[in-house]
Amino acid sequence: MYIQEISINIQADVDKDDAVEEFMNLMYAYRSSGQTQGRIESRYIEGGRIVSLPFTLEKDALDTKFNNYYVNEYAERVEAFCKAKLFYRTAGKVYDGYEGACKCEKSDFYILITNYLSIDSPITCGNCKNTVPLYKLPVYYDYGYMPVLSWESNYNACDTLQMNGEVGERWALNQMQELKSQLSKQGLKICRKIEELTGIPVYYYLHNYRKNVGNECLKLCPGCGMQWHLKTPLHASYNFKCDDCKLLSVISPNS
Ligand SMILES: [Zn+2]
Ligand SMILES: [Zn+2]
Repeated sequence: MYIQEISINIQADVDKDDAVEEFMNLMYAYRSSGQTQGRIESRYIEGGRIVSLPFTLEKDALDTKFNNYYVNEYAERVEAFCKAKLFYRTAGKVYDGYEGACKCEKSDFYILITNYLSIDSPITCGNCKNTVPLYKLPVYYDYGYMPVLSWESNYNACDTLQMNGEVGERWALNQMQELKSQLSKQGLKICRKIEELTGIPVYYYLHNYRKNVGNECLKLCPGCGMQWHLKTPLHASYNFKCDDCKLLSVISPNS
């Protein structure tokens, strides 16, 4: 993950609050175009300058070639309003071990998965296990990826509830592990749409934290009822995979 600096000077005769609002519209557009990660980046005003420090998956994620209509539109607006040019700089890389985003020419399959801590893209490459920047995929809806990010934040919210364990834990867990839950339905719809757009199969990850009863390996795919246990776990973590239903899951750690 990289930390980028996006900033702009505000001229003395420009209203600071209005300038910040215009700037925030641009930051929102970057988020929905898939170019920045996480929902709230560090932002501050210093010496008549608005500064924001978003995370990106690739060093060149803010290159104009990845901009969509809204990013271009809001970038122009904020520059016109502030009577200045936007300034971009890569502040750094989060840590040395960051493997970077998927660079596969063509992935054999993708996985839709996230968790309460993740600010990666919710699409993982089935070949290299790395995260796939959304801006590398065909446009999903209205120049961007908001429906995918909406599922992601719903999933993050459910995972947070089940991790905290005091409010709605059971309900949230069921949303994550039941095939017919609203959360799974929303996710599966996204899988099918991305498949249609890319021609690449997209697997949906079903969480599993059920109490282990008997031999977990005998569990059947919740979609088609067929055997789906893998002899060798995929990516050393997924124990279950159904190629017909395009579902993945794990052996529950809750013994
Ligand atoms: Zn890859
Ligand atoms: Zn199945």
